[in-house]
Amino acid sequence: MKLSFHGAAGTVTGSCYLLTTDTSKIVIDCGLFQGSPELEQLNSEPFGFTPSEATGMLLTHAHLDHCGRIPKLVREGFNGPIYMNQATYDLLEIALNDAAKVMAEHKEKAAIYSEDDVIKTLQMAHIIEYNTPFQFGGFSITYVNAGHILGSASIILEGFGKRIAFSGDLGNSPQDLIEPTEYITNADIVVMESTYGDRNHPDEDPTTVLQEEINAVEKTGAALLIPAFSLERTQELLHKIDHLKKKGLVKEETVVYMDSPMAIRATDVFRAHPELYNEELKNHLETDDPFSFTGLQVTQRGKDSVRIKNQPGTKVIIAGSGMMTGGRILNHAANYLPDSKTHLLIVGFQAEHTIGRQITEGATHVKVYGQDVAVNAVVRESHAMSSHADQTGLLTWIKHVANPQRLFLTHGEDGPREALKLKITDIHQSVHIETPHLHDEVEL
Ligand SMILES: [Zn+2]
Repeated sequence: MKLSFHGAAGTVTGSCYLLTTDTSKIVIDCGLFQGSPELEQLNSEPFGFTPSEATGMLLTHAHLDHCGRIPKLVREGFNGPIYMNQATYDLLEIALNDAAKVMAEHKEKAAIYSEDDVIKTLQMAHIIEYNTPFQFGGFSITYVNAGHILGSASIILEGFGKRIAFSGDLGNSPQDLIEPTEYITNADIVVMESTYGDRNHPDEDPTTVLQEEINAVEKTGAALLIPAFSLERTQELLHKIDHLKKKGLVKEETVVYMDSPMAIRATDVFRAHPELYNEELKNHLETDDPFSFTGLQVTQRGKDSVRIKNQPGTKVIIAGSGMMTGGRILNHAANYLPDSKTHLLIVGFQAEHTIGRQITEGATHVKVYGQDVAVNAVVRESHAMSSHADQTGLLTWIKHVANPQRLFLTHGEDGPREALKLKITDIHQSVHIETPHLHDEVEL
């Protein structure tokens, strides 16, 4: 049996693994590389294996860095089943259609697939459920809840005398909306994410951070920009603002724009899956819509988004993309970042070379659509709202796995995974830890 690494090997994006046995070739995730132009160039390059030879695919969750290259795989001849749960399917439909649309619109980037390839991809989905083993390619395969976003999974494959676990992205539990991460207690071989392998999230309450930022712009009548991923982060923000408004901690009249068609659709998917909510949220469902409150303005159409700048008074604008690599947030950035009264709240991971990362690293000017934009706004970064486990969370997760023999650290930049490697050595003295590079192949 062989395992090869065709993405997220020394980077956070592009997750893609191939597990090869005598009779099957199973792809685990197939995500887009996101970040610098050099990194994104990898999306146009060959996968490192022959797509038509892959016999099936397992998908952990619907973030683009895990699913965004699947239609390319299909376009290049992959024709096997793609296993995922219903919530992941519902979010996948939104994420992939959006990705295809963005590619078609941005002529400067090569389109690696079309909307037709997305339709074909969705037709190949096989819906499975958490904690319900199924047989494929000689393995008994089980998805367990990774607690990262709605539908997210860690995957365990048992067969050929081995038990192999893929962590997928691990959640920052407990979270506002979804159930906590389910631990895996037994695996010989583990492939584990290491995004925050070198640091812990701050010990601050994300709801308080949000309140402080909204209160700051309420005092001056300015704008608060929050670049946010459409899946999960936006719904968490809405839920937190709902709480703050109900408690009177932010003004009822403060207008909050959910300015992202993709986030609007993703919120509908959340509403369709109350069975995946955590206990706390389930208990309040009858009396409260967790994603709605007074002053919420949902801007579906582009022209309504453009008009936001003409509205007077305090405004909170939640828009994608989360790392400011595209989407409606860029227009708002160009409009508002030069104003020193503006606040910018960064609540998600910012990959290297993105505008979001440049700003968090202190850039006083950024290029938006080729134009120079001065950054005079008050910038605050909080990782307390992260949907990723931090170093302590990752160590707790791996501690639950009894006696792993081999551990592959992926989905992290080199600094974080080296730091995590050192820490794990203290927990599992005998485990052999590897930090693979792109297209490396190992014998299992
Ligand atoms: Zn993810």
